[in-house]
Formats: sequence, C-alpha cells, structure tokens
Amino acid sequence: MSLADDIAHVLTRPRLTIDLDAAARNLRAYRARSHGAEVGATVKADAYGLGMDVVAPRLFAEGCRTFFVANAEEGLRLRQCLGPDAMIYVYNGILQGEASVFLHHALSPVLNDIAQIEAWTRTRDLADAPPPAALHIDTGMNRLGVSARDAPALAARGDLLSRAGITLVMSHLACADEPEHSLNAVQRDTFTAIRKALSSALPNGFRASLANSAGVHLGADFCLDLVRPGIGLYGGSPGPDAPADAVVATLEAPILQVRQLEDGDPVGYGASCRAVGRRLSATVALGYADGFLRAGGPHGYGVLAGVKTPILGRISMDLVTVDVTDATDAARPGALIEFLGAQAALEDAAQAAQTLNYELLTGLGPRCDRRVLGAAA
Ligand SMILES: *Cc1c(COP(=O)(O)O)cnc(C)c1O
Repeated sequence: MSLADDIAHVLTRPRLTIDLDAAARNLRAYRARSHGAEVGATVKADAYGLGMDVVAPRLFAEGCRTFFVANAEEGLRLRQCLGPDAMIYVYNGILQGEASVFLHHALSPVLNDIAQIEAWTRTRDLADAPPPAALHIDTGMNRLGVSARDAPALAARGDLLSRAGITLVMSHLACADEPEHSLNAVQRDTFTAIRKALSSALPNGFRASLANSAGVHLGADFCLDLVRPGIGLYGGSPGPDAPADAVVATLEAPILQVRQLEDGDPVGYGASCRAVGRRLSATVALGYADGFLRAGGPHGYGVLAGVKTPILGRISMDLVTVDVTDATDAARPGALIEFLGAQAALEDAAQAAQTLNYELLTGLGPRCDRRVLGAAA
C-alpha cells in the first residue's frame, strides 16, 4: 500500500470537511444580495484555509470569473487551477522583480501607489497583450492604496492610467462590519468623488469595487459594479448584523479516551480546571497545533450526538478534554465530536478564543484529515 493509503487509515486525527455545494449556495446568496453587481471571489490565504485548489474551481464552475488573491504566488497557483479564462487580481500589488511573473501568467496587479503605477506602465509598454490592472484608492483605512489626497494629481495623468491598463478602481472599507460606523459613508462618498475625478482620465471607462462580504450587507450604494466577498462565501458571518449563510467547514475530532472524574479532580496543564461533582470526560485528538486556538479553552465547546460538551481546562498541543457527562451513551473512543460546523458555530469558537472567525478558519492546520463534499468543478 502507498503512504497515502496508509495515511487514510489514521483515525486518531482531526477531520476537516469542506462542503463545496455549500460554498456554491453562498455564492448564489451573495449574487442575490449584491444589487446586480458581479460577485468576484476573494480566495487569498488558500481560500481562507479551506483549500483554494478545490474551492476556486467550484466557484468558477458556478460562473464566477473574477478572483482576488493576496500575492503573486497565490495567483500562480490559482492560474494553474483555473486556466486562462479567470481574471485574477493580486491585492498586494507588484514589487520590482515580479513583472515577468505577472505578464507570463496574466495576473493583474492591484496598483497601490504612483511609483508602482509608473513601473507597471513601463513593464506593460514592452509586452504584447499585457494583462489589465486595478487601481486601489485608500479612502480612509491607511493600509494600501493611493491616498485619496493624491488622487487629484493622479486624475490629471490620464495617459499614465490608460497605459497602465486600469480597468478596475477599488477601495476597501475599514468598518463594514459595523453598519452604524460613520467611516462607511465617508469612505463611500470619498470613493464616489474620486471615481468622478478619474472618469475623464479614463475615457474608456472602468469598473468600481468597494465591498467585501460585510460591505455587501451595507446596501446598493456599496455594491457598485463588482463585490469581493471572502468570509461570507466560506460560511462565516461577516459581522454581528450579517448572519452566516451555509456552513462550509466542519471540524470534528475523535475521542481517544473516556474517563470518570471525581469531585475536585484536576484536568489538564496547570490544573486550571477541577471537576465539580462526578463527571465523565473525553480526551479528544485536537489541539492548538491543528489551529484550534489555546485561548478558546475555558469558554469553548464541542457537540457529541447533538449534545453540547464544554471544554474542560486548557487546550494542549494535540489534545482537548471535554465534559461528556450529558452524552454518556455516545462517549466512546473513536466517536467524533464536532468543534466547528452546523452545531458548533464558527463564531462561537472564535468568540471563545477572543478572535475572529477569519483567524480561526485561516489557521486550521495541515494535520487535519481534509475531506471534500461535492464536486470541485
Ligand atoms: C480580504 C479582502 C476582501 C475580502 O474580505 P471579506 O471580509 O473576507 O469578505 C476584500 N477586499 C480586500 C481588499 C481584502 O483584502
């Protein structure tokens, strides 16, 4: 038997199931709420840890044609997955020395400052059929993009912008997950003014994009021509006022040992937790080395046979202990406990670890046994 066959027989590790049909449903849900805008997909960070190689081809098969990654390495892998017909934008832009990679693989940089636009233009002038590019305007996040203050000077350089092949102008919202935050309207209005100023510099027109997943939920005046959801496609809630759609990632792990605890027995490192009364505990093959964050220990839970099983004590590198007293009949070695999924919400686990669903998803580790439900393409 091959090594891969043997690995498939290892049961004492966590299992991460990716439901591609659910991702396809979420794409349709974003189409329905995007007020006619095209829905592109942000698939950076290996599709938020879920596997770009399976997620992106499925979204492509569902008709998605515009994709966003963080850097050119991700862009190359994506080009390999999707072939020539996908539009691939690279958010982090392009640094000196990367030009040939962008040209040879038709990756479109998201140009973030004026020197970068100038350098890209020189690259493009020498190439046949160079790919188009996007222009990132920073409307208030002060992270990446041409500062709104510099936009009027840029708008005066129509020749430069056309030679750069700018077909998309985008900006990014800092507070889209807080619909009441005043910066949302400020960014929207700043972006509107800059688009107007750029329209004479780019007489052939361009498309505009402002919204990530949470931005879509802010309404039509944030959706514009193209939206760029990530987390929402992967079944995460983009903010407190935007509930999650279909669950894409399910994380389960097998019980290795079940034990009886007497009143006062300590559990785990630091003896930080003690049994209150007689309890039944299960020690499970999942730990922070799998991306199940240690900080989630005291408040997190799993679900066994439909019953919540609170985490006892600290999460260790390879193990977590849960209280299975209320699910005694199902508690036996090999039984799977769900830690993320339809019964154990991603957002609950993130909150228990005082972090975001984004960080939890992108951190799920390579030690998980990854399974894919639904066709990739
Ligand atoms: C990551 C990212 C997105 C996607 O954000 P979600 O909140 O996951 O929908 C969109 N635009 C930019 C610029 C990003 O960096």
